[in-house]
Amino acid sequence: MKNITVIGAGTMGNGIAHTFAQKGFNVSLVDISQEALDRGLGTISKNLDRMIAREKITEADKQDTLNNITTYTDLKEGVQQADLVVEAATENVDLKLKIFGQMDEFAPADCILASNTSSISITLIGAATSRPEKVIGMHFMNPVPIMKLVEIIRGYSTSDEVTKSIMDMSIQLGKTPTEVNDYPGFVANRILMPMINEAIETLYNGVAGVQEIDTVMKLGMAHPMGPLQLADFIGLDVCLSILEVMYDGFKNPKYAPCPLLVNMVMAGKKGVKSGEGFYDYSESKKAEKVSSSFA
Ligand code: NAD
Repeated sequence: MKNITVIGAGTMGNGIAHTFAQKGFNVSLVDISQEALDRGLGTISKNLDRMIAREKITEADKQDTLNNITTYTDLKEGVQQADLVVEAATENVDLKLKIFGQMDEFAPADCILASNTSSISITLIGAATSRPEKVIGMHFMNPVPIMKLVEIIRGYSTSDEVTKSIMDMSIQLGKTPTEVNDYPGFVANRILMPMINEAIETLYNGVAGVQEIDTVMKLGMAHPMGPLQLADFIGLDVCLSILEVMYDGFKNPKYAPCPLLVNMVMAGKKGVKSGEGFYDYSESKKAEKVSSSFA
């Protein structure tokens, strides 16, 4: 596999494009507007500059990486030479089904179609195509150029051959792939989200404050970030939507989102990206100040 197409140039898409391009793959990066593509390329350029400053790569490596990326606003053009497409568009089931239908129509017949979805069923996405055996989950972690894990999700119909080639490709990228089956939340979020939800429930029940909960988990369990800060970093709307997928999928109340999380998302308090969640990010992104709602 040499030609890789990445759909979506947002947080994850630009990281995925960066990672493939730095390893010498030809990357086609597709988004709906030139503005989104330019923003994505700007982020890649800044992240490469950071690697130069840390002496991990040279200026020439940066140029080679950027030269390996071509941008498209037309999905049909962007996928027609692809050996592998990694879809990292907005987390919305109708949108993903539409994009996979188009990719199936325009990408070569032997092209593997992967999704970076955090929670949508790979089996459902595969069923929207005429090649469900070639549809697989490639769940990268944020920030993609740094995080080693790729959760590889086998849908109900994903073939052994496709799974093996995506596992091998992930190793080629310098990542550690881990194979899991397609059930709501996969493994990463099935374990992480109930922990985050319980931390929110602990706050909601008045057991402890924001900083106390995060301190217990950081210093007591050696987590690099407390669960409330991590929820703010992921985005509270994203946490809510993943919990809803698990709650719907398992019909088990243990995944019911805490009412405080629901309220915060309704109020537009989505964490770092909106400037406020459990912490106030108006002055610093480092979670140094607890939101006035919890102070
Ligand atoms: P984002 O909002 O930063 O980026 C999404 C991008 O998709 C935007 O640039 C948007 O313009 C583009 N897009 C929307 N419709 C499109 C279309 N029809 N064609 C092409 N591009 C389109 O979102 P994100 O955080 O990068 O998330 C992308 C995917 O990665 C989601 O499925 C999400 O669940 C998953 N994910 C996110 C994280 C995370 O920490 N942010 C981690 C793992 C997986």
